[in-house]
Amino acid sequence: MTDRNSEGGRGASRREFVGRAAGGACLLAVLPVRVLAAPPRAEESDETAVQLGYRHDTKSVDKKKYPRHAATQECVNCAMWQGTPADAWAGCAMFGRKQIAAKGWCQAWAPKPA
Ligand code: SF4
Repeated sequence: MTDRNSEGGRGASRREFVGRAAGGACLLAVLPVRVLAAPPRAEESDETAVQLGYRHDTKSVDKKKYPRHAATQECVNCAMWQGTPADAWAGCAMFGRKQIAAKGWCQAWAPKPA
């Protein structure tokens, strides 16, 4: 019969502690890598952004250059938006791995299907 207060019980407890500590250390070692691996954000000066007329803020779109633009059009309500409505930045099918702003816009904007 095993008694937790016996030497064997303490040994098992020590093994559990060491095992859990090692597991925690592994988790801490992985977390920073995942944070560092977050996709980069697109810049308005990026080649793709310039070609698409992308702006981080839909309010700053040149209305003479893009007459079809409407103030209600934002990346967050575009069919290409890959984030949730709560995300400030997320992926877009037009920008590969780079993230774009929820309040942004480009001339590829298309309404989300209802
Ligand atoms: S395609 Fe849509 S989500 Fe992507 S940058 Fe243009 S407006 Fe934003």
